[in-house]
Amino acid sequence: MPGFELWGEDEKKQVNEVLETGILMRYGFDAPRKGIWKSVELEKAITQTFHCKYAQLTSSGTAALTTAMAALGIGAGDEVIMPSFTFVASFEAVLSVGAIPVLVDVDKTLTLNPEAVKKAITPKTKCVMPVHMCGSMANMDALQTICKEHNLLLLEDACQSIGATYKGQALGTIGNAGTFSFDFVKTITCAEGGAVVTNDATVYNNCDGFTDHGHDHKGIDRGADLHPFLGYNFRISELHAAVGLAQINRLQSFLAIQRKNHALLKSILATIPEVSFREIPDAVGDSCTFLSWFLPNENSTKAFVAIMKEQGILAGNFYWYANNWHYINQWHHLKEVKSLYNLHEAQKEALLKLQTQNFAASNAVMSCCISTSISLLWTEEQIKDKGEKMVAAIKRALR
Ligand SMILES: *Cc1c(COP(=O)(O)O)cnc(C)c1O
Repeated sequence: MPGFELWGEDEKKQVNEVLETGILMRYGFDAPRKGIWKSVELEKAITQTFHCKYAQLTSSGTAALTTAMAALGIGAGDEVIMPSFTFVASFEAVLSVGAIPVLVDVDKTLTLNPEAVKKAITPKTKCVMPVHMCGSMANMDALQTICKEHNLLLLEDACQSIGATYKGQALGTIGNAGTFSFDFVKTITCAEGGAVVTNDATVYNNCDGFTDHGHDHKGIDRGADLHPFLGYNFRISELHAAVGLAQINRLQSFLAIQRKNHALLKSILATIPEVSFREIPDAVGDSCTFLSWFLPNENSTKAFVAIMKEQGILAGNFYWYANNWHYINQWHHLKEVKSLYNLHEAQKEALLKLQTQNFAASNAVMSCCISTSISLLWTEEQIKDKGEKMVAAIKRALR
């Protein structure tokens, strides 16, 4: 999965070019930076790689989500429909703009169930936010139809699925806006960083200003810039952008390795009739950062985890159902409103309601699901060995 596995000369060269000038900030200092604009270059590379009009870099994927929400005009009291299975960053961003996360069930795609989305729509719903988890995609046709019918915004959290496509379009570029993360464990990394992508000029201009204290960036003198609206500092640095630039140039080769390794491991697990695989709305678009698969029930899945743990070979196999960071079950801080500062009443009320909301449909899927992360460094021998050990553990777990 992660780009950090293949850190090398390209990354060092890009960073060194910035270190040579000593201009570590993305804006201003035009003369001393001697033509080195890594952030601008990376934004251009993102638009070219994913065939979208605009990209705005940010300091993280979480900042990208917050920025996208602000840029789309999502704010106090607005409801954002999102899945029960995601990384905590998705709801953190919703809360950060004063909006209300409305969590709904996932299905065997491991992302939003369109029927559950429909049922959750109220007059306050402003946005539907699918999260393309573990390298693969939500059912975008169904979600787009719902958004059009109800006049809702569609914001794609594609932080885990950079390079994946749906019917030929890059994930993140299908909705009104989308986000990528370049944190250290994502498919490509900047160490820390993120991006908002969009085809909408207004949304992009909002992102451009919002991530830099509202600067309009119209002049060459930062001090004389105007501030047409409020913003924050969610800027990326030139050092981080330099790493990202080296990595995005290697993305296609990373994806090719992932797809090859994924196919081999899948063919080994597929020899067991009781194993089934994640439903993928457009299989050719899978970025293959993970192989996600199911056992027939919760008991056999838990037994598999226990057997792998006992042998010390569980690493890289994620049982999200029991994971502290990715599934509603363990988000006690959210459900108990453990906020350091006062949230507004509508937010508190919605979060407390999560304690009694029925997530049986999500539980049925997630309790039987394992995601195996696909390494870029595996040899064919290692994959076969890993696969055989997994098969043995699965067979024992099924007894
Ligand atoms: C990683 C991630 C984020 C946030 O990205 P950071 O760069 O770590 O802030 C958001 N959503 C999902 C689904 C993620 O996996």
